[in-house]
Amino acid sequence: MMKKIWTLIIICLISVSMCFASSSAVFASTLSIGNTDVIFDDTCILSDDVKQHVAESLVYGNSGISTYGLSCTIFGHNSTTEYITTVTHYAKNTYPKCFEEIWELEVCSKCGETLTETRISYCYINCCL
Ligand SMILES: [Zn+2]
Ligand SMILES: [Zn+2]
Repeated sequence: MMKKIWTLIIICLISVSMCFASSSAVFASTLSIGNTDVIFDDTCILSDDVKQHVAESLVYGNSGISTYGLSCTIFGHNSTTEYITTVTHYAKNTYPKCFEEIWELEVCSKCGETLTETRISYCYINCCL
């Protein structure tokens, strides 16, 4: 009987640690959209869905359409400031080719809508040959 319980506990521990291992791999802080990398700060509190929406808004422009913004319409946005780096690879044909921009974004942590967008700095970087 005791042996059975210990086996159960060990199985639980293994599955819990596997859970942690797989989730840390899923939460990548860099999203690639087209030829642009959108790099989120380590301290970023946004969920993966919201990150995806913010990244697409940065690359494609703010569409203003959010599929899960209904609660914001009722309760208001929950704004947070995030620092995001974007690297556009092969932005021009001559070396250095890649264009790095650093953004200060005020975004809603619930729906991912960009409330204010400020470009802090930009430069071409030595990245791709
Ligand atoms: Zn919102
Ligand atoms: Zn590059």
